[in-house]
Amino acid sequence: MNKDVPGTLMPAASLVRFSRSLLALPLAALIAGCATTATDTRSANERTLESLKQPSEQQICYDREAEPYTPLVDAHFHPRPFGGPAIPPEKLHAMLEGQGVRFVNYFGIGQILELDSGCDYYLDCPGVTAVPSIKNDFVNGMETVAYPNDNLHITLSMTFMDLAHPENVVELIELYDQEYPGMFSWSGELNVVKQALLKNNHEPATMQSIDQWAPFMEVLEERDIPVTFHSDLGNDANPTEHLPLMKHILATYPDNKVVWAHMGLSKELGKMNPVQHVTILKSLLDKYPNLMLDISWDVLYNEYHQWGDIYIPFFNEYSTRILPGTDFVAAASKADDQYGKELDVTSRALKALDDDAFHNIALGANYFRLMDLDYNAPQVCPSDDKTQTQ
Ligand SMILES: [Zn+2]
Repeated sequence: MNKDVPGTLMPAASLVRFSRSLLALPLAALIAGCATTATDTRSANERTLESLKQPSEQQICYDREAEPYTPLVDAHFHPRPFGGPAIPPEKLHAMLEGQGVRFVNYFGIGQILELDSGCDYYLDCPGVTAVPSIKNDFVNGMETVAYPNDNLHITLSMTFMDLAHPENVVELIELYDQEYPGMFSWSGELNVVKQALLKNNHEPATMQSIDQWAPFMEVLEERDIPVTFHSDLGNDANPTEHLPLMKHILATYPDNKVVWAHMGLSKELGKMNPVQHVTILKSLLDKYPNLMLDISWDVLYNEYHQWGDIYIPFFNEYSTRILPGTDFVAAASKADDQYGKELDVTSRALKALDDDAFHNIALGANYFRLMDLDYNAPQVCPSDDKTQTQ
């Protein structure tokens, strides 16, 4: 995952552009756009999954002025809620496709609420226990087979691991192997420590339990399976309270492909000094070449957007180490345009990236490399050649 990313320059003669007239605006995108901001003129992505199989230089270059700033990849997505009904699969696929997403990670909810609680969202139900389970993953596996979609690449993820009690994890992976052979190629998001869940009896991992992960981390490493951890960095009272856990994971399992969800931020940590935050991230990224960050969750934008001067240069500098995502939770009760809104908010940082970083993060280069997928991110059209069309 540390291979150099191909440059974005290409011969001018080979440039072809999307004509604006080709980019018809689907109604859903218009509605989502209007509901978000009056100035949001983004269109849906018209590129097909198939087109991304071509080598980058053979694809039409990506015109950032005419094409969306939202990503082709949603690397952090929950197709089922904590409890209660989910958005039906065909509607879910149409929703993702309509927003131009071609690659999506189907994360289970790592903490299903007790089935007899009648509860749909953990924050509404303090005291109701949330525990990791295979339930979500199994439904995701079944539905992905039952509703194939040739314009959407779904990566199934194992989310059942109880990181505080890892004893039976390898055994359960064997169950997945038996029931869904070769189908699960990601793991997570797994909760190391999630302060928001503590009222639901979430038991955080400890230094000792992290040491007991070795057998299953070895399986993930052998299979080249990335693992996404939700591990709160800390809280406003002590911004780095839980950093030792993440550091211990990275030091113990440096050869695993680890993705740190939300860059460690959370609702409990809304006031961290962004310079201190970025300094911590840079030192870990420098020390651990297999670490990546996911910038999912609208909380990040809502709480830290005023710090773009610090985060955007950081994303540009470390652009091969970042994955985009929404952290959308597909509860059936959500309004039809909610995904578009969340995708828009979580993509605002992408709009500000330089072209190399946009290619790496939004157009999928990082994701394809991490997953060793047979797809290629389009090159961004050179910005000094805006008038050329074909
Ligand atoms: Zn999540």
